[in-house]
Amino acid sequence: MVTFDRKALAPMDVAARVPRLQALLGEAGCDALLVTSITNIRYLTGFSGSAALVAVPAAGSEAMVFVTDGRYGDQAADQLQGAGVEARIEVGTSGAAQQAILSAALGGIGRLGLEAHSVTWGQQRAFAGEWFPAAELVPTEGLVEDLRQVKDQGEVARIEAACAMADTALAAVKHRLGDHPTETEVALELEWQMRRLGADGASFETIVASGPNGARPHHRAGHRRIEEGDLVVIDFGALLDGYHSDMTRTIAVGESSPTQTHMWDVVLTAQAAGVAAVRPGANAKAVDEACRSVIRDVGWGDAFLHGTGHGVGLDIHEAPRVAATADATLAAGHVVTVEPGIYLAEHGGVRIEDTVVVTPEGSRILTRAPKDRSL
Ligand code: ZN
Ligand code: ZN
Repeated sequence: MVTFDRKALAPMDVAARVPRLQALLGEAGCDALLVTSITNIRYLTGFSGSAALVAVPAAGSEAMVFVTDGRYGDQAADQLQGAGVEARIEVGTSGAAQQAILSAALGGIGRLGLEAHSVTWGQQRAFAGEWFPAAELVPTEGLVEDLRQVKDQGEVARIEAACAMADTALAAVKHRLGDHPTETEVALELEWQMRRLGADGASFETIVASGPNGARPHHRAGHRRIEEGDLVVIDFGALLDGYHSDMTRTIAVGESSPTQTHMWDVVLTAQAAGVAAVRPGANAKAVDEACRSVIRDVGWGDAFLHGTGHGVGLDIHEAPRVAATADATLAAGHVVTVEPGIYLAEHGGVRIEDTVVVTPEGSRILTRAPKDRSL
């Protein structure tokens, strides 16, 4: 049994994050921000529980207030202390108690920022009418998400370790494709291997899309048995300490048709062109175009049905997007995927995906499983 040593991972500088957020609040027109996204709370404080609200004052002199429920008081104290994050931790065992704590803490606030993408309509009405009636509520977009784009060494180390677990799991499982298992059996084995290697779980529902199912980019894993002549699209990842990995390999079982082989070769070339375009200062759109132009040039442009990639971190899909309509500029510390594909109903699908970190010099591929077409 493998024992993965998490303590050997480079540490994350969690305590540096709140001051960076505070520096943005003035420009966003807020005297304080109420953080409601649990992923953003994890990022800012190191808290990994499922319920909390955090009030971050714009000025560093006031205390951050961290409110959770009865299940998480001790855990919050341990995790915030472990991360070196200073906050006044309060436990509110009911919604009314949490309201009382935050109403009092933010009573003097003029302009209170809310995270527009995480607050529900119902919450907004309650915040405006009952929790903070005297404050002006300011919608904010992507303040913490923008900070999350640039990963520190410790974050990259977690993603890289998660990628390595997926690499090892695929190496252990892929030879079994020739035994014609069902898609679900392959998915389960991959997930079992990743857990055995120390992962907290799969980073999303594993995709094993064989034969005609491969032509649907969002097929998950069903009970179809893998057959000779199938292209098998396997898209999966490991979750480690909150961080995700994401990798796709397409493996041909038995003899491929000339069209299938051509599809595979074109996607491999497109994917390499995309990875080569990843560097600091590159526009995300240019990375997409590097992949897309290869596929378009052979006449399959319409069969590349999705964007080229996405950021990966505490969420499996996060900023920056890598797509024709994206206008992000890549920077060192961004972690993105490059995953072009070709999907043809009569032949199946091919997608090849790596998770890549942008480095000062260019980029480094974190998913290192070999890209072999056949078993
Ligand atoms: Zn993927
Ligand atoms: Zn992906």
